[in-house]
Amino acid sequence: MAAVLIRSGREPVENWVAVFNKVLPDVECRIWPDVGDRADIEYVVANQLPDGQFATFPNLKLVAGTRVGLEGLLNDESLPPHIPILRNTDRERAATMTAWVLYQVIRHHRHFEEYAVNQRSKAWEHLKYRPPQETRVGIMGMGNLGTTVARALSGLMYRVAGWSRTRKDIPGIESFAGAAELEPFLARTDILISILPRTPETENVLDAGRFAMLPKGAYVINCGRGTTLDEDALLAALDSGHLSGAALDVFKVEPLPQDSSLWNHPKIAITPHYSCSGRAVFGAEGIVDAIRKLRRGEALTGTVDRSQGY
Ligand code: NDP
Repeated sequence: MAAVLIRSGREPVENWVAVFNKVLPDVECRIWPDVGDRADIEYVVANQLPDGQFATFPNLKLVAGTRVGLEGLLNDESLPPHIPILRNTDRERAATMTAWVLYQVIRHHRHFEEYAVNQRSKAWEHLKYRPPQETRVGIMGMGNLGTTVARALSGLMYRVAGWSRTRKDIPGIESFAGAAELEPFLARTDILISILPRTPETENVLDAGRFAMLPKGAYVINCGRGTTLDEDALLAALDSGHLSGAALDVFKVEPLPQDSSLWNHPKIAITPHYSCSGRAVFGAEGIVDAIRKLRRGEALTGTVDRSQGY
């Protein structure tokens, strides 16, 4: 009998098993590390397996992560290159990420932190209002998450542009593509949101030089990967007054070390890698669809391009 090997992340593995048992009764669930007969394993649901395990499954057909970032799978040399890795395109995950980003954008743009301070001193004062149509939001990474965020912000009348490797054609959203268009993209951006994956190309893409390309007073939000942002350069740009603030959900080292200067910085808002939050079985529906397609001999969509690293 075909089997799916499940190594759950933070969540109870029973939730995954319940979904698979319900919709794929002819696929046996094996829970890591109880692999059983390795020849049965056709599907693996895990962010990572230790010790070159993937090479030991002779009938492996598909691997799917339990979260969106797939570095643990992409860096595993035991995973044969022809085995598809499924991206997570779950709508609920995109929805929670979008809500987190909207909160950060609106909190900054509408001065809600200052209003909270004013409340404490009973100050009835309207702070400077800038219409959303005149507030330029720029999103780095226009994939499943970035596109969902971009549409939501555009719906709230913000002037939205996206930057990605390849050009996008999304009504109402200006598209910038590739390294050559990063500078003009940054130069037109008042609120920068990075939802980039971790790849060699995105390593420290937000560094001192890139922060200097943003207009004075720009605000920076990072909820993609901590590796994409130079934290020391961010602190310097905040302290010089060039940037007005930052909201960070992801960091170079997680959990963020106790002695990190980011914790106490008055212009930085921190959440603990929490922007996408929710149920264990995020993405289970997509994995089940993919398994069904494979069994019908149909082509898969939504798989990782391993040559690009995301
Ligand atoms: P996708 O793979 O759908 O999208 C990635 C986007 O990044 C694409 O638009 C891609 O361009 C762009 N991109 C990749 N490399 C480059 C580059 N070198 N230059 C310019 N653009 C580039 O991923 P998702 O939207 O699903 O997720 C994005 C990332 O968000 C994940 O990889 C993960 O790291 C992070 N994440 C963070 C979470 C959190 O809780 N903080 C939770 C979930 C995800 P193109 O469209 O041209 O291919």
